[in-house]
Amino acid sequence: MRAIEVENSELEIRDRKHLWHPLTQHKVSPNMLPIVKAKGTILTDDQGNNYIDGISSWYTAVYGHCNNFITEKVSRQMQNLDQVVFSGFTHKPAIELSEALIEILPAGQQKLFFNDNGSTATEIGIKMALQYHHNLGNDRKIMLAFEEGFHGDTFGAMSVSGLSVYNGAFEDHFIRVERIPVPKGDNNEEVFQILNELIRAHNIAGFIYEPLIQGAAAMKFHDAEGLNKILKICRENEIILVADEVMTGFGKTGKYFASEYISEKPDIVCLSKALTAGLLPMGITSCNQKIYDAFYSDDIAKGLFHGHTYTANPLACAAAIAGIELLKSEVIQKKIKWITQENRNFVEKISENTKVKNPRSLGVIMAFELDVETDRYGDLRNKLFQYFMNNGVSLRPLGNTIYIVPPYVISEEDLHKIYTVIEGLFSEF
Ligand SMILES: *Cc1c(COP(=O)(O)O)cnc(C)c1O
Repeated sequence: MRAIEVENSELEIRDRKHLWHPLTQHKVSPNMLPIVKAKGTILTDDQGNNYIDGISSWYTAVYGHCNNFITEKVSRQMQNLDQVVFSGFTHKPAIELSEALIEILPAGQQKLFFNDNGSTATEIGIKMALQYHHNLGNDRKIMLAFEEGFHGDTFGAMSVSGLSVYNGAFEDHFIRVERIPVPKGDNNEEVFQILNELIRAHNIAGFIYEPLIQGAAAMKFHDAEGLNKILKICRENEIILVADEVMTGFGKTGKYFASEYISEKPDIVCLSKALTAGLLPMGITSCNQKIYDAFYSDDIAKGLFHGHTYTANPLACAAAIAGIELLKSEVIQKKIKWITQENRNFVEKISENTKVKNPRSLGVIMAFELDVETDRYGDLRNKLFQYFMNNGVSLRPLGNTIYIVPPYVISEEDLHKIYTVIEGLFSEF
């Protein structure tokens, strides 16, 4: 899927020999595109073609790729302390990160539990919610989640995810989950009613949700007031609130965290993706004092016996500290506000187009559905993907949903090029 088709470049051939790529049925997939360089907003392939990274490499590299400020901090950390066991030992990068993160997290967050990725961040959020009730002697073993949510690919995370068309092989092993529709404003009362019925019928331990935007469900937005009321009902019924901010965190919605748009605050927050500015894998599950206190006991078995080898890796911590420093900087805050406004303008501009359905934006996230007859185009998603790559823009349409999550550092020229290429769709399809 490169701009100019070449027959099997050397790297493509070697890739096919031993590599098994994620979310891929290799028998029907084209070759993987070798990327040899990423700098700022630009990805470069092995033939020298450039592509604007319109989704910040799955919402991670929001300060631009190979950002000097971040790579220098990590490189300095690398000279000093690379890795040490985080059970029995501690270190300054983790301590400094905890202080910097607590300062910007939604109100009430007090403790950080480190892990390796977004799936483990939500997995631990689920375990905290279940064990919280177990430790208190409550018989609550069921999780609540939104239909069509996505929380990751490990067993707990898969169980609470509603988009499980490819998870057939594992369904017998899922944890128990009840689901509610997302509140869209016009269906709120119905959702509250379903929720109240489920609460009466089941012993629900925790509610896991992507606040305001469901990423993998194709950037679907929902109603903030409706979500707030759901959280309020859950809290009144002692259901632990687990906010999955893996996608929405660190400025993408225009605030540090999407939970800031909602007055009911989460008990637990799951973080990854932009946490380390796209440099190294890491996840964090944070919680408030109430959760922590339920594990704090003379009884050792009440502790959280979960631990990953690379917990609080000092290099990943250094990247995260540097990322938070950038996020809080005036330069980045200004850029986020600017992209937010540009997105609004673009949404307004395309909203009259008959091929555009449900155009929407929040912060740097902009999305809409391309309203075309899909059978006429066969595999629309692949054709759209190819169209963008041919035009030097890396986007990953989901079905007929086009969305962008550009790096905050994107230039005016590059952002406008993305918009122009998107508008080109309307005459092409
Ligand atoms: C990506 C994502 C995850 C899973 O993160 P991985 O690092 O891919 O395991 C979980 N929740 C949400 C909302 C995500 O967007």
